[in-house]
Amino acid sequence: MPANKKLLVLPGDGIGPEVMREVRRIIDWMDRRRSVSFEIEEGLVGGAALDAEGTPCSDATLARARAADAVLFGSVGGPKWDSLPFDKRPELGILRLRKELGLFANLRPAVVLDPLVEASSLKPDLVRGLDLMIVRESTGGIYFGEPRGVETMPNGKRRGIDTEVYTEDEIARVARVGFDLARKRRGKLTSVEKANVMQSGRLWRAVVGEIGKAEFPDVELEHMYADNCAMQLCSRPKQFDVILGSNLFGDLLSDLAAALTGSLGMLPSATLGAIGADGRRHALYEPVHGSAPDIAGKGIANPCAQMLSFAMLLRWSFGMEEDAALVETAVQSVLAGGLRTADIMQAGMARVGTGVMGEAVVRELDKLAA
Ligand code: NAD
Repeated sequence: MPANKKLLVLPGDGIGPEVMREVRRIIDWMDRRRSVSFEIEEGLVGGAALDAEGTPCSDATLARARAADAVLFGSVGGPKWDSLPFDKRPELGILRLRKELGLFANLRPAVVLDPLVEASSLKPDLVRGLDLMIVRESTGGIYFGEPRGVETMPNGKRRGIDTEVYTEDEIARVARVGFDLARKRRGKLTSVEKANVMQSGRLWRAVVGEIGKAEFPDVELEHMYADNCAMQLCSRPKQFDVILGSNLFGDLLSDLAAALTGSLGMLPSATLGAIGADGRRHALYEPVHGSAPDIAGKGIANPCAQMLSFAMLLRWSFGMEEDAALVETAVQSVLAGGLRTADIMQAGMARVGTGVMGEAVVRELDKLAA
């Protein structure tokens, strides 16, 4: 069978390698049972790469990421590297990959699975059945805008500067991703900004409106101030389908949405680039959580977010909807059966470690595919 799906796997630091091991079980299962073969390369990133190669993402790793059809990323960082200067930190590994591969659209689903409805910070009725998607612009805005820095003023006092800047092309390309997603889901896009107080917000609102009118008239478009959106997410989250925001607002709102779902250990994400002339699109898939140094090495990390990131990879990079749904259903069935890692533990359930959870998902895949 030809291995025509090239994956670069970058487990990273902390719990990254532990949860990635469980995804490898699923990949092996797919190889055996679904006749889907992946050509897999594994590389170093973050602190592990700093230690071995002197940089958090080497040119060679970047070249392999460019050549791959998709990158499956774990997580980076940890106390060992915390005292390094800003320009040497492991977290630069992921920033470099995002920037160099042009990964401008970060997709973060916030889905409340039925078995975990009690784990949410909100009342069950407010979140039961919640299924929304946040599309965050991820290569522009205030995290990259110039000028930036801390400078000393003539009076000897320091001043910190960051710049929120967006061109209309940057807004338009991420808006198209949001509209396109909404069209494939429930047909509603909520675009958030602060057009009342920010110039870049005024442009954001105008450009999203123009794209919607010209290219997606079938998608319902709603504009909302970001602060109101934060409040609405806490009071009536089920009104949303797809939420589109800048790097900064998308970052804040997606963490808020994460709290609605109960645990960081359950949340996957995808970051997509533009579709090239050859029809290919760079894409990187990673859990929302970090390297969780407090539990690394203990075998108790929840592997579901990493597994669900792999499901997103199957769907978005390879159009393998059926296989993606199979992985998602297997995870949900294992939870419904009462197994829980420590982070999502509830009374009356069975507490298990990372490996047992991974094995249970593979057993469930066997049952589903029988
Ligand atoms: P974190 O997400 O690593 O952990 C936050 C809390 O959630 C911890 O208590 C942790 O034990 C728990 N947690 C996270 N994932 C879990 C899982 N799969 N199963 C069970 N529990 C889980 O965030 P943090 O503590 O703020 O950051 C730790 C390190 O990770 C830092 O160095 C940070 O820079 C880095 N980080 C990396 C990424 C990334 O690689 N993209 C993202 C966020 C943070």
